[in-house]
Amino acid sequence: MDEQLVLAVDLGTSGCKTALVSRSGTVLAWAYRPVTLHLLDGAGAEQVPEDWWQALLATAHEVLDKAGVSASRVAAVCCSTQGEGTIPVDREGIPLMNAITWMDMRGAASLRKQVRGWVNVAGYDPLKLARWLRLCGGAPALSGKDPAAHMLFIRDMYPQVYHNTYKFLNVLDYLNFRLTGRFVATHDSIQTSWVTDNRDVDRIRYNDKLLQASGIEADKFPELVPCTEVIGVLRADVANALGLRRGTAVVAGAIDNSAAAIGAGTLADGDAHLYLGTSSWIGAHVPQKKTDISAMIAAIPCAVPSKYLMMAMQTSAGNNLSFLKEKILYHQDELLNEEQLPDVYKIFDRIAAKVPAGSQGLLYAPWLYGERCPVEDRSLRGGLFNLSLDHTRETVIRAILEGVALNTRWMVDPVQRFLGRKLDCLTAVGGGATSNVWCQIFADVLGLPIRQLAEPMQANAIGAAYIAFVGLRQLDFATAAAQTRYRATYQPNHVHRNLYNDSFGAFTELHRRLAPLYQRLNHQGL
Ligand code: ADP
Repeated sequence: MDEQLVLAVDLGTSGCKTALVSRSGTVLAWAYRPVTLHLLDGAGAEQVPEDWWQALLATAHEVLDKAGVSASRVAAVCCSTQGEGTIPVDREGIPLMNAITWMDMRGAASLRKQVRGWVNVAGYDPLKLARWLRLCGGAPALSGKDPAAHMLFIRDMYPQVYHNTYKFLNVLDYLNFRLTGRFVATHDSIQTSWVTDNRDVDRIRYNDKLLQASGIEADKFPELVPCTEVIGVLRADVANALGLRRGTAVVAGAIDNSAAAIGAGTLADGDAHLYLGTSSWIGAHVPQKKTDISAMIAAIPCAVPSKYLMMAMQTSAGNNLSFLKEKILYHQDELLNEEQLPDVYKIFDRIAAKVPAGSQGLLYAPWLYGERCPVEDRSLRGGLFNLSLDHTRETVIRAILEGVALNTRWMVDPVQRFLGRKLDCLTAVGGGATSNVWCQIFADVLGLPIRQLAEPMQANAIGAAYIAFVGLRQLDFATAAAQTRYRATYQPNHVHRNLYNDSFGAFTELHRRLAPLYQRLNHQGL
């Protein structure tokens, strides 16, 4: 019999990639459609849920056509999505406004007000409650970017929408609703709503005290399920639209950091991956819940049973390149056809490879939208430093790639402290990890071998497919990890490493000196 397949959907911030993946981790076909991010005045960042759905349908159609496989081979559909978005929906699952994405900071003031009000909630001491909440929730600090803040923002600013909200869904939950008609949240998608007790990772539950403190009615939260649960079957209209079997299973799936860790094959404790997408992170499975508030690193619930996922997250990585492409080098009207999008990044790579390591002293700060780790600071912004007349377009592009890597280097010590051991290697995944030049820059800047996944762009989709096969009891995570394929390993060049040690010193000095200035210029509160 032909090998079974999963239709795996990876909805990131920049677009939707869908792939047909076999149990052995082979990607038979994949397709991509961009999705617009609407940046609004006042720290807003929205997307239109219907755009996600249309991108999902279009990419699913394309891969099924390309692969030309019979519908009977598709055992399940499973999604991996950007986390921390919030979509208020009515009883029919229809969004009542645009989705508030993980980048949206407008809820900070409402969250601050709510935290202050905790003292009045059944007499709780806000400090004690905050500490307890961190303990239960696991994330390092409350943030205006969390769904907890988004929901309060909607409650305060759009009371009618709040009143009409039947459920608040995360991005993953929304796609699962569209696929199955069921309102569920996964153990990982719910975490930054701050209403679950995550102390026992195999028994994540809503907690009454946290629900009360959240300021949101308990019945507006969906039912909780583990990531590997089969949550239902495709709705008949969706199955028909995609030409898939009625009765095709839908597995709950996971948010992107958990799916990426599985797709990267980094299952063993402390075995770390580096995600290089719109944002970036270092992630590694760990056996226990732990939080380092000072460096903003936390172990959070994930798709692998009995494990937490250590997450050290940076807000800006590949978006520095997309910013350059879309806002600086091309006027919107002249923007290259999105189909050619990967080629633009290949041109950047070729250009950057021509410039010597160190970018002739040009330093780039990649903080386009504040930063999270190792310093939580919404007010930080990007910039070129030490720019001189003899620098060229080429130098600027290389400096941007190096700046993102220097920012990641900043996380390495806190990550090693968190894990209690030295990193010996990082597996690079995500769109940015397709760049050989960037992988080498990371190896040199971090002083670590960088192992490039065979298909870095597909890590989340492969992770989602493995989650589905595990949910269908056709695979276990250890077997999935053992079949990971790599394209190359980049060893650090020690001459470059020494040079980048100096750049790193200047980079952290730049932050230390500029942070107070940015705080004056861009103060955003909590
Ligand atoms: P997300 O899902 O987080 O939106 P992706 O994993 O799709 O992100 O990666 C998108 C990012 O990958 C882009 O912002 C771009 O910077 C980067 N990228 C894609 N292709 C290349 C390439 N060939 N070289 C360098 N960067 C690339």
